[in-house]
Amino acid sequence: MKNIKVFSASALDAQNRKKIEASFAKKHVGEELSFSYEIDVKLIGGVLIIDGADYYDASVKGQLSALKKADTDEHKVSAKNKNKAKPIAPGEIIADEGFLAVLNDFKPQFSSSRAGTVIFSGDGVVKIQGLQDAKYGELLDIEGSVMAIALNLEENEVGAIVLADDDKVSSGMIVHTTGRIVEVPVGEELLGRVVNSLGVPVDGMGELVTTKKRPIEAHAPEIVERGKVNQPLQTGILAIDSMIPIGKGQRELIIGDRQTGKTAIAIDTIINQKDKNVMCIYVAIGQKASTISNVMHTLAEHGAMDYTTIVCSTARDSSPMQYIAPFAGCAMAEELMYQGKDVLIVYDDLTKHAVAYRAMSLLLKRPPGREAYPGDIFYLHSRLLERAAKLSAKKGGGSITALPIVETLAGDISAYIPTNIISITDGQIYLEQELFNAGIRPAVNVGLSVSRVGSSAQIKAMKSISGKLRLDLSQYRELAVFAQFGSDLDTATSAMLEQGERTTESLKQELNSPLDIEHQIIILYITIKEFLKKIPVKKIREFNKGFLEYVQINYQHIIDNIHKTKELGMEDCLDIEDAVKQYSDYFFKLNA
Ligand code: ATP
Ligand code: MG
Repeated sequence: MKNIKVFSASALDAQNRKKIEASFAKKHVGEELSFSYEIDVKLIGGVLIIDGADYYDASVKGQLSALKKADTDEHKVSAKNKNKAKPIAPGEIIADEGFLAVLNDFKPQFSSSRAGTVIFSGDGVVKIQGLQDAKYGELLDIEGSVMAIALNLEENEVGAIVLADDDKVSSGMIVHTTGRIVEVPVGEELLGRVVNSLGVPVDGMGELVTTKKRPIEAHAPEIVERGKVNQPLQTGILAIDSMIPIGKGQRELIIGDRQTGKTAIAIDTIINQKDKNVMCIYVAIGQKASTISNVMHTLAEHGAMDYTTIVCSTARDSSPMQYIAPFAGCAMAEELMYQGKDVLIVYDDLTKHAVAYRAMSLLLKRPPGREAYPGDIFYLHSRLLERAAKLSAKKGGGSITALPIVETLAGDISAYIPTNIISITDGQIYLEQELFNAGIRPAVNVGLSVSRVGSSAQIKAMKSISGKLRLDLSQYRELAVFAQFGSDLDTATSAMLEQGERTTESLKQELNSPLDIEHQIIILYITIKEFLKKIPVKKIREFNKGFLEYVQINYQHIIDNIHKTKELGMEDCLDIEDAVKQYSDYFFKLNA
C-alpha cells in the first residue's frame, strides 16, 4: 500500500481531504492508497504533500522561502524540476498540472485568524491579539513549544491559560490555533503511576508508554446510556457502608473542616477495593507535595498502587495546571469506564480547585461574582461531576464513582462552594470537628450525612440491620443532650444511653483498616442485638476485634454464607449468637 503524507498548518476538513484523496486516486489508478494527515504549524498556512519521492509544496512557508530565493536569483522554477526526488530544497513549488487545481485551493491566505501575537504574559495567563478563529477551550500553540487553552474570547483579543511555567512565554511570540483540545494519555498502563495534570509521569519510574489519548473535556453520558445505580461500592468503613451506602456510579461528597479525616476516608475506600476489580484514580489538587507523597506511600504499603493512578497538581503548580487536574483524571477514568470497567475517582479537593479557577478567572479579568468566584463556577463542577455515571448494560455496564472532597470553614456547609457541590452530588458524608476531637473516628455525623441512592446499593443482609442501627443512634443523640442536665435517669433511659454509647464505640474504626462487608455485618449484628451490654465501653473495640478472629477460626461458614447469599439467614444468626456467647465467656475469663 502506498502512503501519502499530508502536512497542513491547521486541521483539514473532510471536504478538502476528499479533494486531495480524489486527485491522488487519479494519479495512482488501481493502486491502494493510504493517507496520513499531520499538523505542522510551522507551515503557517497551506499544505505540503509527500507522495513517495514526489513532493508538493503549497505552504506559506514554502512560498516565502521561494520568494526569498527568487530574489537572489538562485532559484528558477522549471519544468524539469517536476517530480524531483527527495531531498528537495525547502520551499520549491513543484506542481504538475494535474494537481495545480487542488493545491490552488490551499493558496496561502495571509489572514490574521490562524496566527496571533502574545501581547501580555504573566501568572499563568496570556493575552493574544489577532487570533480571530480561536474557539472556547481550544488548544493554542505558542511557537511550537508551549501549549495554552483559550478561555476568553473577546472582540480584539483572546485570553488563554498557559500549561507550563509562564516564564517560557514572552510578548511578541507567535500563537497558532490547533483545532484540538488538551489530551492526556489514557489506558491501563497508567495504573501504578503518579502523573501530573498533563499525564506526564512524575514518579521517576521511567517513561509512560500508552497507545491512546483522550480529550480532557468530554460530554457526560446521555440519560438513555445510563443504567441504575444499584451495585454497592464498599468503602470498608462501618459507619458509611451501613448508614450512608454508596453505589457504583454515584457521586458522594466528603465534606468537613480541615483535618477531620476527609482524605483518610477516601484512601481507606481505595485500599478496600483490593481484589474487587475496581480501578482507582486519586486526583490531588493544590496539595502539598509531602501530603501527596504520604498518600502514595500509604497506598503502596497496602498494595493499592497496583490498581491506582495518582494525578497530582501540587500547591506550587500554576492555577491552570490545578484547574485541569480533575478533568485529566476524569478522562483517564472515562477510558476505563467505556471499556466496561468500574472506576473510583477521588477529587481531593474541589475547594482548592475552585480557588485555582477563581485566581485564573480574576487574572483573565472575568467579572467576579459571589465570594469573587466567576459566574460559571457551578458549571465548572457540574460538568465535571456529571461525567461520573453507571452505564447501561448495552453500553458495557462500566461505571465511574466519584468521591469529591470539599473543605468547610468552621463547619459552615452553607457557604458558596459547599452548597453548590452538595446540590450536584447524590449525597454527602459530613465529618465534624467536634466528633473528631472527642475521639469518634471516623468523625461521621450520621444526622447530617445522607446517600440519595440509599439502600438500593446495599446487600440484603446489611439492609436488614441498618434500620435499627440508625434508630439506636438517633435516640442516643437526642437523649445524650438531655442527660447532660440531670443525673436522675430512669432505667429505660439509661439503658438506651448505654446502648447508644456501645453502638458509637462499635462504629469507631482505625486508620487504613477497612472491614469486609461480611465482618461489618457480624459486628453490627452483635451490637444491635445488645450482646455488648455487659462489655465495658472501653473494651468494646478490643472485644469486636477478638470476636471477628474467633468467628474466622471457628465459624468461617457464617462469613462464607453471607458472602454467597448476600443475606443473613436464620441459622447464621443463631450461629453468631452461639459464637458471641462462647467468646464473651472466654473474654471475661481473660479479663477477670
Ligand atoms: P486536610 O484538611 O489537611 O486535608 P483531612 O480532613 O483530609 O485534612 P486527614 O489528613 O485525612 O484529614 O486526617 C487528619 C488526621 O487525622 C491525620 O493525621 C490522620 O492520621 C488522622 N485520622 C484520620 N482518620 C482517622 C481515624 N479513623 N483514626 C485515627 N486517626 C485518624
Ligand atoms: Mg486531606
